[in-house]
Amino acid sequence: MEPKVYINGKLYPKNEAKVSVFDHGLLYGDGVFEGIRCYNGVVFKLEEHVGRLYESAEAIALEIMLTKDELRNAILDTLKANNLRDSYIRLIVTRGVGKLGLDPFNCGESQLIIITDSIQLYSKELYDKGLDTIIVRTIRNHPDALNPTVKSMNYLNNILAKIECIKAGAAEGIMLNKDGYVAECTGDNIFIVKDNEVFTPPASAGILIGITRNVVIELAEEAGITVKEEQMTPDDLFNADECFLTGTAAEIIPVANIDGRKIATGKPGKITLLLLGKYQELTTSHPST
Ligand code: PMP
Repeated sequence: MEPKVYINGKLYPKNEAKVSVFDHGLLYGDGVFEGIRCYNGVVFKLEEHVGRLYESAEAIALEIMLTKDELRNAILDTLKANNLRDSYIRLIVTRGVGKLGLDPFNCGESQLIIITDSIQLYSKELYDKGLDTIIVRTIRNHPDALNPTVKSMNYLNNILAKIECIKAGAAEGIMLNKDGYVAECTGDNIFIVKDNEVFTPPASAGILIGITRNVVIELAEEAGITVKEEQMTPDDLFNADECFLTGTAAEIIPVANIDGRKIATGKPGKITLLLLGKYQELTTSHPST
């Protein structure tokens, strides 16, 4: 069966799912998106992802033509039409078709696209071994310019960082903020473990508030582990007992080394493995909607 893609209320076979070259999403990266996973027929943290999509849209004065309920149903209908129980869902809202020139108010209605596909960022081996990472030179967008809390279609900041890390042979790039503190990775949030406590940069570091990040914080606290949202420096990373990354696509993945320096033994640490186990339990037992 050919995959079907949802565009503005209709399902199109994958090869016929197209948008106009005059869509400001294409012309200017003007739009917002979400990446969501569906595990065994249950969309993981659907409420939270839909909530973040609307907040991102609000931040760029973009109107989504569906209510949250309608959007949730459109996602579920698209999964059903594709007969998918395990999937990676890409929700995209573009500014819509307009004239050349930046003015977003020239555009017609925003376009809603739902792609249901799969994603595997890293091999199974890397989940066992941990990632090689580097600290990139590209700094994370200044929050007063383009706030990283907005999950916009304009990912060039992250792509520049990704190019740096690929050229260096690393799997992920750790981005610092304008003040030299650790922010996040090109497509993941970052955590360290030090003396049995878990640390992650705060919102004020200029990061996307990851939904996986929030789940991991909850799981750690439920397990009686102290979690601190604190500014951290590259030295804090190098001196960590453990380091791992979180994201919808990557889930939880250990970091083996940063800039060629091993994190502790270079093997995934015990708190990382504990949280990974709990995350897997949660996504396979699916108490969330
Ligand atoms: N930071 C960035 C820059 C991201 O693009 C993402 C999502 N890929 C994340 C963090 C993780 O967010 P989430 O856990 O909500 O997928």
